[in-house]
Amino acid sequence: MQSKPTRPLRVMKFGGTSVGDAERIERVARTIAEHARGAAVVVVVSAMGGVTEMLIRAAHAAARGEEGEWRDIGREFSERHRDVAERLLPDQDRAALLRWLSEQVKTFENLCSGFSLVREVTPRSMDSLSSLGEVLAATLLAAVLRSQGRPAEAVDATEIIVTDEQFGNASPRFEETDPKILARLRPLIEQGTLPVVTGFRGATPSGLCTTLGRGASDYTATILGAALDADEISIWTDVDGVMTADPHLVPGAKVIPEISYRETIELSFFGAKVLHPKAIQPAMKKGIPVWIKNTFHPSGPGTKIAASAVGQAGVRAITSVSKASLFTLGGNDSLSFPRLAAKVFSSLSIDDIPSLMVTQSSAENVLCFAVHDADAPRVRTRLEQAFELEMRHEYVESLETMAQVGIVAATGEQMKGTPGIAGRLFGALGRRGINVIAIAQGSSELSISFAVKSEDIPEAVRAIHEEFQL
Ligand code: ASP
Repeated sequence: MQSKPTRPLRVMKFGGTSVGDAERIERVARTIAEHARGAAVVVVVSAMGGVTEMLIRAAHAAARGEEGEWRDIGREFSERHRDVAERLLPDQDRAALLRWLSEQVKTFENLCSGFSLVREVTPRSMDSLSSLGEVLAATLLAAVLRSQGRPAEAVDATEIIVTDEQFGNASPRFEETDPKILARLRPLIEQGTLPVVTGFRGATPSGLCTTLGRGASDYTATILGAALDADEISIWTDVDGVMTADPHLVPGAKVIPEISYRETIELSFFGAKVLHPKAIQPAMKKGIPVWIKNTFHPSGPGTKIAASAVGQAGVRAITSVSKASLFTLGGNDSLSFPRLAAKVFSSLSIDDIPSLMVTQSSAENVLCFAVHDADAPRVRTRLEQAFELEMRHEYVESLETMAQVGIVAATGEQMKGTPGIAGRLFGALGRRGINVIAIAQGSSELSISFAVKSEDIPEAVRAIHEEFQL
């Protein structure tokens, strides 16, 4: 096994807005140069802002046979990347890159023509198209770095991240992935070449392109960081760090200087957009600090995510999911609660649908749980299928769905063992006349979550923010 390089190793991931146009890519190249002083750097890059969205739209248009639409998107796709090459690359490098770009645009056209011919886009072929933006962004950024005299090489993550075959939401197979990352990236790092890796994508063992889920370039960064035993991972985005609340809801929301891994997992599960929910795990396993930094305000302190965090005890941040549906199932005495619950969750497990909160009232044999609105129709169908017999014989007396519900979560690792937090939280809601529909707090006491009507979310978040003086 090769030994770890002596220079500190930093993994830096840049999101779509950070590489949104030529000027921004130039800024990113400058930030990389600053961080590469005295350190080895591995870069992970998302597609240019909005490009993934465009590619997905093009695929659907092609599958509907709308050729004009997908060709227009293809032109925009081509122009946005050409513009970067034309503005940032010197004459001698530009021609080769523009030729390569034309080949990528051809790939786009071939895929779309194929979808159009069969009037269908499968998750497998969608992955090849939707992650093309990452390939272009990584190649362009590497070329820009080289043109500034910094050895850099674009690396397609399909070479190093081996996943299962869950197209659209694939999971990495770490036993195969980690050695590939080391074998491909370590030599580059040791020779002083900066790898620029495509976020978002991976490949099955047989080499078919997969994607790790929307917004999953963060996950790519922490997978690489953990495999390489990096000293730190930084996620460069367009906000100053993890905030105490969504600043659109609470104008006085502040950046949290330090936060724990567990708190971050909780926050991203309950709607905070700052980091992909899966991204923390690899870093947490290896104890690597993850920084959230603002590309447009690089001197700002950002947020450090680590095993333990100093800071205010009690509630530290409030997040919310505004579009949820609440399901309530009531059984009679002939259907025990464990059987009712077992059937409900095995129905959800068929499509692996996450539930946002669960509450039980066992005396009445009532189970209540919340899911994202987008999942609600599938959940309803699954439950109706699973309980068809029980409903016919009235073992299940009610199956109700309440739409336009929001889930609010107040999170803080040091809430544990501090009495009075729930009292203050619900007192604050009560004083503002906000009705709480359901409540959950696990024994880990990491967060208290509750359901309210969607329209009450802004007021509920503000009330708690004020109560705990965040
Ligand atoms: N470009 C991909 C997406 O928009 C992945 C990412 O940006 O993290 O989902």
